[in-house]
Amino acid sequence: MVGLSREELAAEMAAIGAQPFRARQLWHWIYNRGARDFAAMTTLSKAFRSELAERYVVGRPETARALSSSDGTRKWLLRFADGQEVECVHIPEEDRGTLCVSSQVGCTLTCKFCHTGTQRLVRNLSAQEIVGQVMLARDALGEWPSPQDDRQLTNVVLMGMGEPLFNYDNVAKALKIVMDHEGLSLSRRKITLSTSGVVPMIERCGQELGVNLAISLHAVTDELRDTLVPLNKKYPIALLLEACRNYPGSSNARRITFEYVMLRGVNDSPAEARELVRLLEGIPAKVNLIPFNPWPGAPFERSTAAAIKLFSDIVNAAGYSSPVRTPRGEDIMAACGQLKSDSVRGHKSAPAGEAAAAPTA
Ligand code: SAH
Ligand code: SF4
Repeated sequence: MVGLSREELAAEMAAIGAQPFRARQLWHWIYNRGARDFAAMTTLSKAFRSELAERYVVGRPETARALSSSDGTRKWLLRFADGQEVECVHIPEEDRGTLCVSSQVGCTLTCKFCHTGTQRLVRNLSAQEIVGQVMLARDALGEWPSPQDDRQLTNVVLMGMGEPLFNYDNVAKALKIVMDHEGLSLSRRKITLSTSGVVPMIERCGQELGVNLAISLHAVTDELRDTLVPLNKKYPIALLLEACRNYPGSSNARRITFEYVMLRGVNDSPAEARELVRLLEGIPAKVNLIPFNPWPGAPFERSTAAAIKLFSDIVNAAGYSSPVRTPRGEDIMAACGQLKSDSVRGHKSAPAGEAAAAPTA
């Protein structure tokens, strides 16, 4: 049942001759209480509960591996019914807890610095598989019923494996479930969708979902961006920034995030920082500087701390907030997609932290 829209759930109930309000009760049990067993749904009659159990399941993806970092970051390798795997990461911070969710198995795009882009097998995740990541994290964090405050899972970012705007319909369906007030109840303001620049889908994303937008920019000239983010050849920087200028609902209070991976000697000069500032003029923007997460065989190195600081100072001085993303979970393989590749290669020995990381629910 996980991943059915409200309308689909209502249609299922109608099809088995149940009253319409049953769909609402089920919704509450599944998404607010986190119930997985129909027997626990005590507001439903016994006969109805057993009828549901005969026909449906409230499922979760299988956890193939679970790792905990010494810094509190948790990473799950999830396996779906067809054996395909994706990663999902929870990053606790002082004032929030962010869940990084995947939208595809692998990615059809081949950004040069991204490990996910090296994986050949690609398919879209279903809405069920996307919502399933949030459900599983809630299980592991022990966050049922959905707490009103003091949550450990406050934010969701679509920054895991895959390009979410290449799987728009399923992502949209999943996010509507995640945002539903009577269920998981995460506000659209706490959800950020990151895209490498699928320009034709950006406006629709803002209009229909109203979530925060993050753009993987990574370069300030088309010449360099063509090589780092090959999708740039189709949708060059000027077109991408035009779509950002028109993004529905963006304002100084709700800025668009520009992600910029810091690659040593490639895109990290002061001149490029100044050009970035020039490009962003007129866009309510903030810049997220991401020190490159190395992976075996990667053709880049992380920028030096001094280069990152200088870059950040220039962007800051122009009035844009430009926090440097602190690398997290480095002891449990930080680069997105690494855990999955490791598993595909047949990794057997459990790295440090694994034993302690099994979901608690
Ligand atoms: N496909 C989408 C969302 C997933 S990638 C996108 O590209 O935006 C999420 C972010 O992680 C992107 O900004 C991506 O460029 C960045 N990223 C990928 N590999 C990285 C690495 N090895 N080190 C640092 N950032 C990386
Ligand atoms: Fe795909 Fe994003 Fe990785 Fe590029 S950075 S290959 S779009 S997941």
